Amino acid sequence: MKYTVKDLQSDFPDDAACLQWLVEYLYPNGITCKTCGEVTQHYKIAGRKVYSCGHCGRHVSPTAGTIFHKSHTPLTLWFHAIYLMSTNKAGTSAKQIERELGVTYKTAWRMMHQIRKMMATPDDSLLAGEVEVDETYIHPNVYKRSSARRNYGRDARRKGEILFGIVQRGGGVRVWHVKTAGARILRPLIEANVKYGAVVHTDGWQAYRTLPRLGYDHRTTEHGIGEYVTADSYTQNIENVWSHFKRGIKGVYRHIGKEYIQAYANEYAWRYSNRKRANMFWALMCRLNK
Ligand SMILES: [Zn+2]
Repeated sequence: MKYTVKDLQSDFPDDAACLQWLVEYLYPNGITCKTCGEVTQHYKIAGRKVYSCGHCGRHVSPTAGTIFHKSHTPLTLWFHAIYLMSTNKAGTSAKQIERELGVTYKTAWRMMHQIRKMMATPDDSLLAGEVEVDETYIHPNVYKRSSARRNYGRDARRKGEILFGIVQRGGGVRVWHVKTAGARILRPLIEANVKYGAVVHTDGWQAYRTLPRLGYDHRTTEHGIGEYVTADSYTQNIENVWSHFKRGIKGVYRHIGKEYIQAYANEYAWRYSNRKRANMFWALMCRLNK
């Protein structure tokens, strides 16, 4: 069953409920006091997000090390923002968070970037089976008033910022904002993320030509370039990721600073990779301390 805003509000009616969940989640064995050196009974200090050791009085803050640390924004609003960003497939704008949560635009923007950090947690697992590899060009600054073509000219498709992505069919995707699409940049990313021997589908871009030598079963969608072409050699999945992300930039974010492209890409990649989970909100919440 879908986890709705109503469920969220009944699970977390107030900040005390949020904090209680946080304590239970972060300290499954109880809170260890750093002064006493052992697990001791702790008591919440009224009006503050702080607990105090019942033995020596030392304070401990359950939000330390999380994105909530030192924030004056109520935890209920943080949880609500995490809910919106984890479940809203098309992406959520800072304007929308501002409106729905009743915070300033600046606060909304800052919260969203903190939440994106949770979505960026590196994953060391290997992509395997059949993967699709592709690069694309985005124009993060030009959607506001005019089209990419007007700014970049007729050759707009091959200009702009470069994204490189690897998707495992039926699984997750990883995306990097890269400086060039040369083999020297793309090959290490493939070798670091894709299991040796995996089937790798690409287009005919020259950076992929050495994939068979690296131990991959390379299949390409363009005749005469790769090892061989088969009917199942397509890169539709990664292309879907690109078009979804580009729609988000265009329709939701409007304008993103070059320095934040990776953060926005991580957000989209995270949602794509977790799309099959029963509850996206909890999937993201359980990365709080990672
Ligand atoms: Zn103590």
